[in-house]
Formats: sequence, structure tokens, C-alpha cells
Amino acid sequence: MAVKSSKRFPNIVEGHIGDGSSKNTIELTPPLHIQSFSIMIFREPKTYFIRTYGCQMNELDTQIIQGQLEKRGLAFIDDEENADLLIYNTCSIRDLAERKVMGKLGQLGRGKKRHIIGVTGCMAMAKKDSLFRKFPHLDFVVGTNNITDLGTVLDEVLYTQRQVYKTDDRFEENLDYLVAKRDHNVKAFVSIIRGCDKFCTYCVVPYTRGGEVSRPAMSIIEECKQLVDRGYQEITLLGQNVNSYGKDKPEWNCLFHDLLYQIDRIPGMGRVRFLTSHPVDITRELMLAIRDLPSLCEFVHFPIQAGSNRILKKMHRIYTKEQYFEKVAMLTEIVPNVSLGTDIIVGFPTETEEEFLETYQAVHDIRYSVGFFYSYSPRKGTPAMRWKDDIPDEEKQDRLQRLLDLQASVTSEIRASMLGQTYEVLVERFNKDGKMLKGRTRCWKKVIFEGPENLIGTLQQVKMNSFSHETLIGERICQSALKIL
Ligand code: SF4
Repeated sequence: MAVKSSKRFPNIVEGHIGDGSSKNTIELTPPLHIQSFSIMIFREPKTYFIRTYGCQMNELDTQIIQGQLEKRGLAFIDDEENADLLIYNTCSIRDLAERKVMGKLGQLGRGKKRHIIGVTGCMAMAKKDSLFRKFPHLDFVVGTNNITDLGTVLDEVLYTQRQVYKTDDRFEENLDYLVAKRDHNVKAFVSIIRGCDKFCTYCVVPYTRGGEVSRPAMSIIEECKQLVDRGYQEITLLGQNVNSYGKDKPEWNCLFHDLLYQIDRIPGMGRVRFLTSHPVDITRELMLAIRDLPSLCEFVHFPIQAGSNRILKKMHRIYTKEQYFEKVAMLTEIVPNVSLGTDIIVGFPTETEEEFLETYQAVHDIRYSVGFFYSYSPRKGTPAMRWKDDIPDEEKQDRLQRLLDLQASVTSEIRASMLGQTYEVLVERFNKDGKMLKGRTRCWKKVIFEGPENLIGTLQQVKMNSFSHETLIGERICQSALKIL
């Protein structure tokens, strides 16, 4: 073993073992500021493990990170204990996600340090200053706008053996999306816009992901074409606010609905979905595209967030309840079979019982097909932090439960109304039980039915016979004499 003191960093010792085929780290005396574990000297990692927290944007970023690492020659192992490189792709939207990551990073520091450890994602942006202080065993922090710099950051960690961070406020458009390692072979995410300009008062995204940056249409079309050629049947266009697409680049003359028409023209294009939308940017042109484009599924995530105008204003949602309802009415008139999804926050600062009941009434009247409901928790760095989180936890939980109960009964009614009818289902995989096949209708209803494995990746006509808590249970029927919905 050869070991020499680093001239640049006297408390760090550089070294290697034998021919390099054994362990890629060696244990040496800890530097003064790190007392809780033994310092290691890292060599090029051969294996990595990555854990993703949060939304689909993070899932896609993880796939891009994985693609970059594998291009560098690293292999994924599903073994957190033994991987050379550990990456936590984090989320700051919910308090719970953040606490989970903090707990995990703390745990890693208690053991003997054997890995290179990095944090990417929204927490990297929101807490860049405190992460290294809190977790001295952390090796790098890479922000959401810098995932393309991961290789350089890793090189720097290996070269300097010091903590490195890279967190730019603005996204540079040179990200190689095509490198993404897909974890599914039927459906894929495609990023079309990053960041958000809306500045809802409870949300960290504009601060952690920066302002809106649309991706050039040519690059999106190229990726979609490649996915179609590789047999993907469903593409979900992703962004914090997809229907803002193109507004930051007026010279492109290509708004979200224009992009959808271009994607629909790709030969062999299966289904197209999009996530997520801001009600203000859901235009009549988009509604017409949903009605007219064969590829575009009749499901729109249309988050209302609250049913009271005072709370909507306080949230800076920039629409009123009446404007929201008008848009929903226009959409359901243009696309009568559309299904809607929503997000709602209960217990926002100062929300009264009466104001909550307005939200409850909206859920009752609109009959969302799916709802994601949360109780408010203050996020550091957001404007809402300056207001007292004054709704007691028990009250928040009670409001949440009432909404969940209401949504459960609405969902049951919607599922019941589907019984006896036949729907097109894209078969995605085996269900958890490993026996039934699982897929989704165009309106994003989960369906299971019996069938052979070779149906995975195909569109099947399935008659709905019954339903359980979350799932419709159907039977595949032969292709003749169908009423297709
Ligand atoms: S629209 Fe509002 S909630 Fe959605 S990402 Fe932007 S700021 Fe956050």
C-alpha cells in the first residue's frame, strides 16, 4: 500500500491498496472537524445505489442521474450497505419527505463510513448551507439545476477528497435527457419544462428549481420518437406546470397545445399524458387538443388547492373559485368524458371551518376522479412561513379525514358507474400479487384482470365487473362487438 500526505489538505491522506482490485477505500486518521467516523480515501466507485423522494420530476431526474453514472461505467446495486456511491435524490415539498432524508443521512453518519455519499434534488437547493454542517460525512451536494454536472462533481470529490457542492439558481439547457435510464418498458416520462414562475406562497419549487425554462420542441420530439421506436406505449410529459410550456420563449411560437399536436403526429405514438397543470394556464386550445388528438388521454390533473377565495388569494393561486369552476365547466363541455384530478391543502394559516367547508363543497360538486389531499406544513424559505401555522394538528387531521371520506365515496360512485362497460386498458405489468395483470384506462383508472404475460405493453379491451378499495377488477373480452369508451 502506498500512502502520502496531501500537500493541499494536510489533514487528508491519499493512498491506494494493492492493484486496486480490492476495496476502493482505506481507513485513515479522521481530520479534526470529523470525529464521528473514520475518514476514507475514495477511488472511482464501481457500484451505486440511489433513492428517490418526492414527485415524478424527481423520478425522472433520478433516471437521468442513473444514465450518466452508467455511462461512466458504474453499475446499480440494490444494496445500500455495499454500494460504493450512495445518492439521495431529495424533496422539500413536504415536511415528511425532508424528515425521512434527514433521518437517513444521520443514520449513515453513525456507522463506519464506507461510501461516497451525495445529496441531489430540492433539499440540496433549499438546505445547501446547512447540509454539510449537519452531516460532515456527506461528500457532495448537487442542486436540481446541476444534475448534468454530476460527473464533474464526482471527479472533484475524488481528486480533492473534500466536500463539494454545485447548486446554480438557473437551469442550463444542456441536459442530456436521452441518457435517462428507464425503469419501465411500457411507459416513460419526458421532461418538457423545468421550474415554475407562479410563486404560490406555500411552495418551495420556484426557489429550489428556479424559474420556468422550456425545453426545445425538437429535442422533445426526438426523445418521444426514440421512445416510440423502442416500443413505449405511453409518454407522460412532465413539468411543474406543463401548460406554461413555451411562454418563456415567445420566439419559438410553440405553446403547450402546439407541442401536443406535433407529438401526436409522431408515427406509432401511443398514449400521451401530462403532469402537472396550473388552472390559469389550462386554455381552450388545450381542451380542444384533448378532444381532438387521438393520442391525448382524457385525464387532466387540475389542482384547485382550496375552495375559498380568501385562502386562494393568500396562497397566491391567481384564480378565484368562480374562475376555476368556469374552466371546469368549459372543459367538461368540450370533453364530456374527461376525468379530473386535484391537489388540496387543508389547514392553511387562518383557514376557518366555513372556508374549509367551501373546499369540501367543491370536491363534492366537481366529483374528481382522484384527489391528493395534504394538511398544511410550513416550508422554510416560502412566503407562507411568515404566517403563524395556527390551525391545530387535530383540526387539520379532522378536515383531511372528512375530505378523504368524501373522495372515497365519490371514487366509489365513479367506479360503480363504470361496471358492465368496456374500456381500453394499457397493460403495464403484473399486479402486486404476481397473478393478475395491471393496467390503466385512458381516464387513469387502475384495472386488474387475468391474462398471460405477453399482454404486457399491449392495449386490451376490458369489461369492468367489480371494484375494490383502489382498483377495478375486469375481464378481457374478445375484440368483436365492443362499445369502446
Ligand atoms: S404552480 Fe405553485 S404549487 Fe405548483 S410548482 Fe409552481 S409554485 Fe409550486
